[in-house]
Amino acid sequence: MSHELDIIPGTEWGFFTLPRPMCIAGPCSAETEEQVMETARGLAAFGIHVYRAGIWKPRTHPGSFEGVGAPGLKWLKRVKEELGMKVCTEVATEKHVLECIKYGVDIIWIGARTSANPFLMQEIADALSGTDIPVLVKNPVNPDLDLWIGALERLNRAGIRKLGVIHRGFSTSAAIPYRNDPGWKIAIELRTRYPQLAFFADPSHMAGDRKYLLELSQKAMDLGLDGLMVESHCNPDQAWSDAKQQLTPTHLQTLLESLVIRENTSKLLADRSKVSHQIGRYKLEHNVAILQAGRWEQVLSDMIEKGKALGLSEESVSAIFNAIHDESVRVQNRVLEG
Ligand code: PEP
Ligand code: MN
Repeated sequence: MSHELDIIPGTEWGFFTLPRPMCIAGPCSAETEEQVMETARGLAAFGIHVYRAGIWKPRTHPGSFEGVGAPGLKWLKRVKEELGMKVCTEVATEKHVLECIKYGVDIIWIGARTSANPFLMQEIADALSGTDIPVLVKNPVNPDLDLWIGALERLNRAGIRKLGVIHRGFSTSAAIPYRNDPGWKIAIELRTRYPQLAFFADPSHMAGDRKYLLELSQKAMDLGLDGLMVESHCNPDQAWSDAKQQLTPTHLQTLLESLVIRENTSKLLADRSKVSHQIGRYKLEHNVAILQAGRWEQVLSDMIEKGKALGLSEESVSAIFNAIHDESVRVQNRVLEG
């Protein structure tokens, strides 16, 4: 059964930048004020503008570092004020949500252990009701797509429309090189059902080791996902949690620069069609004729020249671009006809 979600696309949240990948980065855990600031400065230096840091950490064993708690939220506030970054942390209870609201956390994410728990999801959804904080929901630890969708539905029914997801892979007993099974099929299924959902991958928790980050990030991009959430720490080997999978801001910059971003042709055409729709509305409001023949001839002859430089024939370039242009005129005519 398919459930409707009433979502505001990431591109309308105000900070979600293109071209892909939109990258959220920061340490697994906020440890000290100095570590939070130094890491944030390193990331801001090459344009990262959404900062993550875990304040409350869901850990397997009691007694291991369970996060600095609410005092760390003051450090995130400082990151916002001094570096102009948006800040983002994980919540798992109503109390966490209320603290985040109090300290002006910009975006929150739901961890994999929490999205697997409908009681907690309902509690969080109720606590968020009435706010417009964007929420990113990680997949549940077990590969259960319906459970993931159920978590999204609970938030959506509470009025949260700035919704996105983070694919971080699934617990497995299989012998694989990664910490979690990427299980990309489930991500593809969710992407296909809800193409409007802002879609991130978390290569860090999928990999468990920084040596696999590039290949997993590239895979996420090849699947057309919008963004990455990556754990980055100013001194990864000394990190208080997930040391092996974190990388320095400088190494993250190199990783991002190494990604090859191939745009999917159907997506490019769909994006273009949205732009045509907007142009149609503008022309309608400003009483401008849809077909601008002179302008089109100019654009087409530019394309033909560029095509020739790449060894393409005039006939094939004009056939392709005329087809795209005809479709654009059709979309704009539909706007005119209401
Ligand atoms: C995290 O992002 O720090 C985290 C705890 O991740 P996950 O819920 O994916 O294990
Ligand atoms: Mn972590």
